[in-house]
Amino acid sequence: MIRTRFAPSPTGYVHIGNLRTTLFEYLFAKKNKGVFIIRVEDTDQERLVPGAMEGMLKTLQWVGIIPDEGVTLDSAGNVTQKGDFGPYIQSERLPIYKKYAEELLNNGSAYYAFDTTEELSAMRERQQARKLPTKYDREHMRNQYTLSADEVKNILASDAPRVVRLKVPASEEVVFDDIVHGKTVFDCKEIDDQVLLKSDGFPTYHLAVVVDDHLMEITHVIRGDDWISSTPKHLLLYKAFGWMPPLHAHLPLVIGGDKLKLSKRKGDVSTESYRAKGYLPEALVNFLAFLGWNPGTEKELYSMEELIKDFSLEKVSKAGAIFNVEKLDWYNKEYLKCIPLSELAIRARQWFEQAEWFEKLTMNNEQITNAIALERERVTTLAELPAAIKFIFELPDYSKELLVWRKGTLEEVKKILPELKNYLDTISIQEWNKALLEQKIGGWIKQKNYSTGNVLWPLRVALSGQQNSPGPYEIAVVLGKDDTLNRLAIALQKLV
Ligand code: GLU
Repeated sequence: MIRTRFAPSPTGYVHIGNLRTTLFEYLFAKKNKGVFIIRVEDTDQERLVPGAMEGMLKTLQWVGIIPDEGVTLDSAGNVTQKGDFGPYIQSERLPIYKKYAEELLNNGSAYYAFDTTEELSAMRERQQARKLPTKYDREHMRNQYTLSADEVKNILASDAPRVVRLKVPASEEVVFDDIVHGKTVFDCKEIDDQVLLKSDGFPTYHLAVVVDDHLMEITHVIRGDDWISSTPKHLLLYKAFGWMPPLHAHLPLVIGGDKLKLSKRKGDVSTESYRAKGYLPEALVNFLAFLGWNPGTEKELYSMEELIKDFSLEKVSKAGAIFNVEKLDWYNKEYLKCIPLSELAIRARQWFEQAEWFEKLTMNNEQITNAIALERERVTTLAELPAAIKFIFELPDYSKELLVWRKGTLEEVKKILPELKNYLDTISIQEWNKALLEQKIGGWIKQKNYSTGNVLWPLRVALSGQQNSPGPYEIAVVLGKDDTLNRLAIALQKLV
């Protein structure tokens, strides 16, 4: 059974690059009828943000990623845990890590070290001065190997701080077959004697991740390329425990247009900010799936179900994946076109509620929905909808010159618009639909021998008050006959 996991540190938001990684972990598990797990890595107590777990789970839920096991939300939206391999929150597993650290101490794969922070920085300074790589100097620092057995015993019996470090073999190669990168080799000379258990009794990421991935029977560790240099440490740990390691797939990093890692400083990296801007989760998922993966066909629009069907780690590329907002915009526009109108109206509601003018509205839901239909293909995000349809509810002020078509004159508008208004008055409310308006007004233009632009341009401006807007027939239908005639009357007043 394939088991993958997303192991976020609860920082308070889901980094968009991490969301891409999570998506791949999720797709791979689902594709293979496996299990997708969420485990919270909160061993770095200094970085904890209150409410972060809940927020992150809600964000994942919003994009449609629901864990089969691990930390999840119950039906009331509260954080809960489910599954037989728990607890799934690392701070609740401290005795487990302690037990496994002891196992390593006992079998000689790890050792106690007692150096203070000052001693460690002095060590690094000495190494830097001699242009040596900065790593723990086992032979010269204060640890189990340099102190006598009695000294060690005494320190351990006192409350002096101590850490447990991994004893990295002096000359050995760590080789593994990464699913994305292929054969990957690290020389132990480059690997530090990593701290496994800190003096506060908390494990470091390295110990916790290995113990948990093993105990939770994770088969595939899928994570960003920025973790690849941690993998040899983890493989040494698997070896020290005598465990079979999982398979690894390191995904290309999501990078900005400048080819640098996406960072908070350079704009929006949180998934939540894209949600707040009115991007649709379907679009975001589709866009992120293509950051580092490609189905190898022309097809670009993929629902989650289709992604699950077609996803494969073999088609993940090694090169960094460029985060291109224009492409995300394109996806969003595509999804805005195809989501059912009633659903779109529900999803857009929160942005309408934020718009001040909206509160004053007496328009009913149907009119709002019709107005959304007018603009859905013209906006990029849901957040743009209220401003885009505002003209339907509140005619903007405009100058009479705007009523003049670029090939027409003010005199012509003055002549045509009153005639058009009179003609529209003869069309019954029953006939007030787009097809009939188009047919009737079209016929009238012909009969009058006017040029189309000279009629439709001023009509459109009179109805929208804007330089750019949807077409006049569509607006007239949403406004209804009365409002259409009222707006024409306003235009006529401007012309006198
Ligand atoms: N807790 C790590 C993170 O914050 C998990 C890395 C991993 O997947 O091993 O991304």
